[in-house]
Amino acid sequence: VWQEALHFIQGKVPKQVYDTWFTPVHLDRIEDSTAHIGVPNKFFGEWLGTHYGPLLSEAVSAARGGGEVTVSFLVDQKSAKAQDHAAVVSVAKTVAQTKSRRGIQLNPKYIFKNFVVGAGNQFAHAACMAVAEQPGKAYNPLFIYGGVGLGKTHLLNAIGNHVAERTDLRIAYLTTEQFTNEVINSIRYDKMMDLRKRYRHIDMLMIDDIQFLAGKERTQEEFFHTFNALYEGHKQIVLSSDRFPKDMPDIEERLRSRFEWGLIADLQPPDVETRIAILRKKSEDEGIQLPEDVIQYLSTTLKSNIRELEGSLVRLGAFASLTGQKITLEMAKTVLRDLIGDKKKIVAMEDIQDVVCTQFHVKINELKSRRRSKTLVHPRQIAMYLCRELTDASYPEIGRHFGGKDHTTIIHACRQVAKAKDADPAMQTTLEKLKEQILRG
Ligand code: ADP
Ligand code: MG
Repeated sequence: VWQEALHFIQGKVPKQVYDTWFTPVHLDRIEDSTAHIGVPNKFFGEWLGTHYGPLLSEAVSAARGGGEVTVSFLVDQKSAKAQDHAAVVSVAKTVAQTKSRRGIQLNPKYIFKNFVVGAGNQFAHAACMAVAEQPGKAYNPLFIYGGVGLGKTHLLNAIGNHVAERTDLRIAYLTTEQFTNEVINSIRYDKMMDLRKRYRHIDMLMIDDIQFLAGKERTQEEFFHTFNALYEGHKQIVLSSDRFPKDMPDIEERLRSRFEWGLIADLQPPDVETRIAILRKKSEDEGIQLPEDVIQYLSTTLKSNIRELEGSLVRLGAFASLTGQKITLEMAKTVLRDLIGDKKKIVAMEDIQDVVCTQFHVKINELKSRRRSKTLVHPRQIAMYLCRELTDASYPEIGRHFGGKDHTTIIHACRQVAKAKDADPAMQTTLEKLKEQILRG
């Protein structure tokens, strides 16, 4: 029934409307004559109901061969996922459509020109520029590392696009997953020699998210030989990873040490000026009118991930254009509620403590104890700081979760960590990593 209803709808609305509002929803069930439609969030359901409620009833009714149908909306996980998926698919499509003429799978949108440079990415950007200007001569290998959504893929593609435009070098850009699949297929079809030959005739090899080599012994082995052949031929190698080579325990030592042979450049989360600059640039490029208070709101709320920043902008823009309204602060808060709001709610202090304990190899009861050895104070303060940052809990509440400590102890801990974070980029990275782990669940 649902498929038919969708088909009906497809024939009645523009494609953009269909993709945005109908691909993320699904028919949960029909009860009496009410169709219960699963939607990603409450706001989505309200909007869909007001604008396309009658169309939905009509479509379901037609699909069932007639009769009155009313629609009602319920929020569920499945459509929240579908909504994310729809976004991913649309990106994947643009990538597929834009294969370069030499068959390299580069995303033409990721170029140096639209990469905003700020304190956190200046170094990595400069290193990538140098490599793009003189592949094989500047730094080899170039190893870019940084957290999720900070621009690794963008920079790798920018190098590729730059080189492809100016030279005839043979470039291969692929994800570690693609490389792994090629190795697996070559083994299965007994085509290992072909694979080796192919990679050894490349002038520049770029592999994205190399951390996914962890635990894949055969692929590591193959990559090791490819690496050596290219390196000895003075061919450029560029790798990206979400962690530092030393922090990749499931990668063979001989590979890990090779990752450190050239230059390692890190991407740090953007500071507030960079976040504002990115929003300004992207809204301009996309022709989205973003008032100053919305820029302030987004740049102070979405801190650690440029992809989220960009995603929220796209969503706001789509919403504004579909509803024909101007973007306001109030609209931004409603449209992005689930993106921004949920993070605080779902994190439990216990989860934070668990992640911190695992990271620093201490026990929960030690973390909550009053012992003041340095190995305990450090993780304890970090855990307290993260509780403050990731939950809505008050200082006394946090104190209660740490074996009944006074709120002044928590305030002190938060200050200490904040200070350390400002003074020490390594601390910043540690905190970001922990946060990511906690939010991932
Ligand atoms: P990663 O590969 O590190 O997870 P991506 O390269 O996919 O991150 O970046 C996520 C999104 O943010 C991309 O759309 C990218 O274009 C954008 N982005 C990241 N850094 C910047 C930047 N400095 N300036 C402009 N856009 C950026
Ligand atoms: Mg990436």
